[in-house]
Amino acid sequence: TQEGILRRQSARESAARTYARALPIVPVRARGMTIEGADGRRYLDCLSGAGTLALGHNHPVVLEAIRKVLDSGAPLHVLDLATPVKDDFTTELFSTLPRGLAERARIQFCGPAGTDAVEAALKLVRAATGRDGLLAFTGAYHGMTAGALEASGGAQDVRVARLPYPQDYRCPFGLGGSNSAEMSARWTESLLDDTKSGVPTPAGMILEPVQGEGGVLPAPDAWLRRMREITAARGIPLIADEVQTGVGRTGAFWAVEHSGVVPDVMVFSKAIGGSLPLAVVIYRDDLDVWPPGAHAGTFRGNQLAMAAGAATLAYVRANGLAERAATLGAHMFAQLRSLAAAHPCVGEVRGRGLMLGVELVEPAGADPGVEAMGTLPSSARPRPPAPQLAAAVQRECLRRGLIVELGGRHSSVVRLLPPLTITDEQAAAVLDRLADALATAAR
Ligand code: PMP
Repeated sequence: TQEGILRRQSARESAARTYARALPIVPVRARGMTIEGADGRRYLDCLSGAGTLALGHNHPVVLEAIRKVLDSGAPLHVLDLATPVKDDFTTELFSTLPRGLAERARIQFCGPAGTDAVEAALKLVRAATGRDGLLAFTGAYHGMTAGALEASGGAQDVRVARLPYPQDYRCPFGLGGSNSAEMSARWTESLLDDTKSGVPTPAGMILEPVQGEGGVLPAPDAWLRRMREITAARGIPLIADEVQTGVGRTGAFWAVEHSGVVPDVMVFSKAIGGSLPLAVVIYRDDLDVWPPGAHAGTFRGNQLAMAAGAATLAYVRANGLAERAATLGAHMFAQLRSLAAAHPCVGEVRGRGLMLGVELVEPAGADPGVEAMGTLPSSARPRPPAPQLAAAVQRECLRRGLIVELGGRHSSVVRLLPPLTITDEQAAAVLDRLADALATAAR
């Protein structure tokens, strides 16, 4: 039974479990946006395997692609040997790459998770530049292995210079709007150009075009272009971590396309495997300094994931799902905004495309850190984050058959990452259930 499974697994698994803690369900069937639990209850899934399921659960084209490989008798495990399935996947992926990189792209298959591809990217820029340090941003999330972790927010490492990620709401310096982005850019320039800053020219800069785990913080396009200029002028490779933002999620196939920025290195995982584990790093050919065998890994050749991924990429492209994410995302954003107007506990609604976040705040008081340094009028200062309220909203959503995830530095941001195939009716149901949950939790 559902209770037995939950009880046994929570006794056996590490306390480090994350999703399972807040979502006590036992999925046994799933299709599209709907998950069915062992107890027969059905849920609309706005977590989508942490942003992995661009086409939702068990999409027919994905299943068909997997079945085709299974029925063909092709080897499932091929290390990094060339295969027809890999050839199809690479061709499909290369056809989506931003111009300026596509013509000169190299691919390295990494193994199986996003964090592996981040690791490969960091190692590559270090090898290519002969330098060691890194530039990374506050609030960043790049994974849980050592290198990716040191580039993520909250880590302490002498090799990583942490720069302020631009944020309008709750800017730690109390700067609103474009001032936050301007400050971030100037900070970066001064750090790099001041020979007494103690920060030697780094091997690379890694950033997320929209911080996901950090609380759904879209980087302003102008800031991204500025970072591109700053890094290009100093010969510093720019790594875009599109593990979560890729494959149409933000309303463009790759999120960097909104700004026109062409990174030197891009990191992909999650949706590129069509729900199966796959991760790659893509980079400009002149960075390809690795000698044979310099980056290995047994599980780099997951044929099923490549087939599922190729089918997903092709489907997203052929059906204009990035454009769909842009229009439906804008509609949902507007609806969430009006929800915010009715609920003082909503501090801000943020997002791009179908990567949306609602930051919940305490009804009274101002964020003390911001109060101290703020240049904003007191009415515009953010109130303290409300993680308990966010957890209550998540629980109320679940009771109403809606799965949402929390994020942000304070776990106070309710995150919506529906599949790009979400229908208008499902979007309306998501918004209804969330509004209802919010009304109950805030009472
Ligand atoms: N980078 C980003 C931007 C991510 O969102 C994540 C996962 N949430 C990762 C890297 C790490 O991916 P994985 O969990 O597959 O290691």
